[in-house]
Amino acid sequence: MEIKDRYAPSPTGLQHIGGIRTALFNYLFARSVGGAYILRLEDTDRARFDEAFVQNLYDTFAWLGIHWDEGPDIGGPAAPYIQSERFDLYKKYALELVNADKAYYCFCSAERLEAIRKEREQAHASETGYDRQCRSLSSEVGRSRKAAGERCVIRLKIPLGETTRFKDRLLGSIEWKNEDINPDPILLKSDGFPTYHLANIVDDHLMGITHVLRAQEWLPSTPLHLILYQSFGWEPPVFCHLPMVMGQDGKKLSKRHGATSIDEFRRQGYLPEALLNYVALLGASYEEGKDLYTLQELSERFSLDKLNKAPAVFDYKKLEWYNAHYIRMKSDEDLAKSALPYAIEQGLFGAPWTEPDASQRSGFVKAMPLIKERVSFLQEIPDKLRYLFSEPPVPPAAEFIPKKSDLSQTIELLKLGRSLIETLTKLDDAEAEQFVKQEAEKAGVKLGDLMMPLRVALTGSRISPPLFGSLRILEAAAGLARIDRSLAVLEENRP
Ligand code: GLU
Repeated sequence: MEIKDRYAPSPTGLQHIGGIRTALFNYLFARSVGGAYILRLEDTDRARFDEAFVQNLYDTFAWLGIHWDEGPDIGGPAAPYIQSERFDLYKKYALELVNADKAYYCFCSAERLEAIRKEREQAHASETGYDRQCRSLSSEVGRSRKAAGERCVIRLKIPLGETTRFKDRLLGSIEWKNEDINPDPILLKSDGFPTYHLANIVDDHLMGITHVLRAQEWLPSTPLHLILYQSFGWEPPVFCHLPMVMGQDGKKLSKRHGATSIDEFRRQGYLPEALLNYVALLGASYEEGKDLYTLQELSERFSLDKLNKAPAVFDYKKLEWYNAHYIRMKSDEDLAKSALPYAIEQGLFGAPWTEPDASQRSGFVKAMPLIKERVSFLQEIPDKLRYLFSEPPVPPAAEFIPKKSDLSQTIELLKLGRSLIETLTKLDDAEAEQFVKQEAEKAGVKLGDLMMPLRVALTGSRISPPLFGSLRILEAAAGLARIDRSLAVLEENRP
């Protein structure tokens, strides 16, 4: 039998870390066993549904580079993959259960249910759910009251006096007294819409899902799901409830800990490779002593046997380390491509949202080696390179003056630096270094004293990315012009 699993999000919010961890593990598991991976949209909650969340889902996974084998956008043998397009199907299966006496019509009004709830709450009763009043109605009575136009729902008849047992692939044997399961939950609402439980089980069955890897918060629903499988006479899939993802304080990861939506990570300048690599380690291990994996490597190594039971702790610092690593590993072209949207947005090439012209574009690619080792996030790149694309204001004279030097010596140092510019733009880093050293020696000045005013004049700051590389991108004419403007300011300051 072909192994199939799925990611079945409800589009009621943005994609977040927990969601993509579930999606990724399902993807990796399917890939590791040569199975199929399905995307199914569980949009039964129409009140909280928003099309924007569906778009966010597609954008997120396109960005991450995770693709499914069957799904709403690409179709497949069990299409449609959107639950709101399958409502007739759920109705049919709910009726099947009513006919088999495994489910029943319930005519209790919302007011009655609310009254029971309050009453039980006041009495501190242990059971607070439905009192199963309509369970004793025969299906004939139910059908005729329904035919007469009475408003009703369909509820599952949970077998009482039994225990539901199953073996979770990660957590082992689990059992639940049926009396402790939410009493006779609704399968089909009065408007004919299914609840999550019914739609989820019908779809997993019809789509041939063999493995359900999902967040641990779904564990309490699993006994109910197994009873549904039993009621239909269907073989249930293997259930595997994934370890929780916590913040450093041991509480469930949430906005209090930092960014959780993938959009936010993306805006901050995380790379998809880094996020995927890090998220893949949340609750799973792969190879002893190896932390860095491509998606392909993860797909080859993923195993349900290597999941951890203990909750995973989300460490933002570790993720930052991964991001810095993947930034360093990128080719200049790739890094420039990833960083370009941030540069455009931050106005590196003119006003914000200005596209670069051809020379700015090629300058941007050439500038990547200058900052690769110095940033952890793509978002930091534009500011670090701003001095290359717009002339920085000339700093006050004091900024130019090396320790133990004075203004007139500094002017001489900068003039000496100026005379080297033409040559420096033609040399690589090692040659340039050698050349400046020689010239400093010849002139009897310290290398650092020669470099400092030159750096301030060219970059507007005492601290900057590597100077020779910067100068090659600026080119001689712009370099000379900057030095001349600086010299003019320094001259003005002479006593
Ligand atoms: N729609 C559910 C969710 O939003 C799916 C749970 C499951 O995987 O069964 O997570």
